[in-house]
Amino acid sequence: MHVDFLIVGAGFSGLVLAERLSNELGASCLLVERRAHIGGNAYDEYDDNGVLIHKYGPHYFRTDKQPVLDYLGRFTAWRPVDYRVLSWTRDRYWRFPVNLNTYEQLIGKPSSEVEFKAYLEKVRVPITAPANSEEVIVSQIGWQLYELFFKGYTQKQWRKSPADLDASVCARIPLRTNRDDRYLRESFQALPAAGYTRMSERMLAACSRTKVLLNADYREVRQQVTCRKLIYTGAIDEFYDFCAGVLPYRSLRFEAEHFTAVQLADRRVVAGRTGVWQPALQVNYPNERDYTRIVETKHITGQTCDGSTIVREYPLDYQRGGEAYYPIPTAEAQRQYETYAAIAAGHPEIYFAGRLATYRYYNMDQVVDAALALAERIKADWLAAAQRRVA
Ligand code: FAD
Ligand code: UDP
Repeated sequence: MHVDFLIVGAGFSGLVLAERLSNELGASCLLVERRAHIGGNAYDEYDDNGVLIHKYGPHYFRTDKQPVLDYLGRFTAWRPVDYRVLSWTRDRYWRFPVNLNTYEQLIGKPSSEVEFKAYLEKVRVPITAPANSEEVIVSQIGWQLYELFFKGYTQKQWRKSPADLDASVCARIPLRTNRDDRYLRESFQALPAAGYTRMSERMLAACSRTKVLLNADYREVRQQVTCRKLIYTGAIDEFYDFCAGVLPYRSLRFEAEHFTAVQLADRRVVAGRTGVWQPALQVNYPNERDYTRIVETKHITGQTCDGSTIVREYPLDYQRGGEAYYPIPTAEAQRQYETYAAIAAGHPEIYFAGRLATYRYYNMDQVVDAALALAERIKADWLAAAQRRVA
């Protein structure tokens, strides 16, 4: 078999590139995906009880990038959502991310933004340029709130002290002095109205001259397919047969549990209403549990089914061959990645895209943005090569 573009991985990166290149260049594409489905880690599905869950961990779409929205809007309508998260520690739920409500819970009485700001001024550690995730938090909210909500969670999730992680990791979480307790900062926050899998299917359906091979690992099919260009969206160390060592990643284990309407009725006092198990979409467990969070997607999907499913998320050490979910944002891991990036620079005929191939802690909108930019670069290379052939 021969194609113009062999694209490894049918997640957001692979799908955007197949759609752009097949439609804009009229090129033939083959998407090779080792899982049994397209959509990558954003894949969602109905579980055995008919509840829509995010199979590889919760995916909250958010963006400030209008071009990304314009592009994805061609394949989905949106269901606006506020992603609400609580934190559970010391036997109670806390309002989170840290805001004025959290402060009132901490001091046990009503307060004001002025008082909270004065408190923060007193406790925050004066660091002008935070160099790591511990510094980024204590420089804003001091040691007490850091130890309550960040230290244990981060240690559990990454098996590293926040002091050893890049500042950008904990800086993902907003800290506010008013009562705004939305988990995310971005101006656009919504879910694909019919889910991520449906949106991925529409992206694929929009591709011309594109085939998909599921349950197929690139390493197994590469002998049977020739291509003019290869686009790779899997882990870069695996692509190069780990020749410069195994890159560090964090992995996860997901444990789902379903509750019937009758069981949920018993949870009414805790959840605050019937039909759900917990009082918010996501509850973070920084301290007393082995899992980091429990997610109940029914809070945001708009499903009206009687039962509900929760998913507990346990951090896991990454073993070669296991699922690599998070690149690890440390200076040392970045140096290891740079070795692979240098090798890749010697192969300009191969394009690397996405969270694993470029070793970046990317959100979905950043991945789409980068894939759109890469598609433009590949198009320019392709047309330049065509012109050279004519000349
Ligand atoms: P992926 O989605 O990982 O797709 C790569 C595909 O390549 C996979 O399907 C894989 O099976 C396939 N593949 C790899 N190697 C091979 C091979 N050798 N042969 C064949 N196929 C191969 N982003 C957000 O914006 N909001 C969130 O709330 C959010 N939550 C997340 C929660 C978790 C637990 C995780 C892990 C990620 C989360 N993300 C979130 C990030 C989001 O998943 C990524 O930004 C996005 O899915 C990356 O798309 P991608 O195409 O680069 O990679
Ligand atoms: N974090 C934390 N406590 C929390 C939530 C997050 O310490 O209650 C830190 C932790 O290091 C986590 C990072 O902030 O990995 C980013 O959190 P986010 O919820 O964005 O993680 P993701 O959804 O990407 O797993």
